[in-house]
Amino acid sequence: MVLKNTDNEIIIALRNLFTGAKKKFVVITHENPDGDAIGSSIGIGEVLNNYGHQVTIVVPNAYPDFLKWFSSEIEIVVYERKRSLAVSYLSDADVMVCVDFNEPKRVSRLKNKLLEFSRTRVLIDHHPNPVSFCDYMVSEPSYSSTAELVYDVIRKADMEGYLNHDAAEALFTGIMTDTGSFSHNIANSNTFRVVAKLMECGIDTEKIHASVYHTFSEHRMKLLGHSLNKMKVFPEHRSAIIWLSQDELKEYKFQPGDIEGFVNYPLSINNIVFSALFMEKKGYVKASFRSKGSFPVNEFANKHFSGGGHRNAAGGEVKLSLEESVERFTELLKDYNHLLTQTTIN
Ligand code: 5GP
Ligand code: MN
Repeated sequence: MVLKNTDNEIIIALRNLFTGAKKKFVVITHENPDGDAIGSSIGIGEVLNNYGHQVTIVVPNAYPDFLKWFSSEIEIVVYERKRSLAVSYLSDADVMVCVDFNEPKRVSRLKNKLLEFSRTRVLIDHHPNPVSFCDYMVSEPSYSSTAELVYDVIRKADMEGYLNHDAAEALFTGIMTDTGSFSHNIANSNTFRVVAKLMECGIDTEKIHASVYHTFSEHRMKLLGHSLNKMKVFPEHRSAIIWLSQDELKEYKFQPGDIEGFVNYPLSINNIVFSALFMEKKGYVKASFRSKGSFPVNEFANKHFSGGGHRNAAGGEVKLSLEESVERFTELLKDYNHLLTQTTIN
């Protein structure tokens, strides 16, 4: 069943909003935008734009080069770089559409602007435990990705006729990246039904895959090698951790997005079910967590790293030094030993 949590009244309201008079839309997504964030934003943006609405995408901070090849020409304003432009689009907009996040703090420095927005707010997202801050909330945690959900919202809102090649390419990217190229997060056949529909729009899925995954710089590839070399494995806890300091990142000429996906590698080790990656930032450490099977990294992230996410992919942060953070994590593994050894992989 699709759109389990979303009442028909919300669908009707969205249909009226999307298919009614021409309006100004701003699409917003979370900090450090990933493939699903950018893909979902462009996907919904293209469809609304094709209908005749005016659409701008606003993102809190810069996003990686491997997400900069889309055919879409919708403007993406980086708030951190062009504050007044982003603010002017927001103050002019009739509708704000929030995609791929479900709590205001996920847009970080844009949070106040988001909360000040006084016209219609829409949310389309697939993370669990949403905070209520929008007039119309489409919150469906059973979906692989926000992009898959955007497709179903478009269909239900009678906007499928406006789904063009550029929208399909972006939505496919969102599904592909959030499922690790269709390897996880897929709860049912809907994901593949949506992918089939997107392919019918004439997208080149091989080109999309190569554009996202096969464009490493030499430095990024060597940083991956370095990260895997220093990875610490705790076979007794079925866990592994990688941590990177600012100095190391500088040595490998770090660019935004360079460590994207690194946290998944330790899960390729036989019997490892929990992986962490810690990155040193100014005054805090950013943590990424991944797991296989029943171990809930979102609960772990929420409880110990002020974060959240999905059962098998979560993140958070902690105001400790890098060394202290690694130590804290190592200690926590002992507390979670029972759960980790009990973890079942489907
Ligand atoms: P990543 O490890 O790729 O940064 O994030 C993985 C998942 O965890 C994403 O779905 C993201 O939404 C969520 N996530 C990452 N960082 C945070 C955080 O600081 N707070 C919350 N609530 N979720 C996060
Ligand atoms: Mn997502």
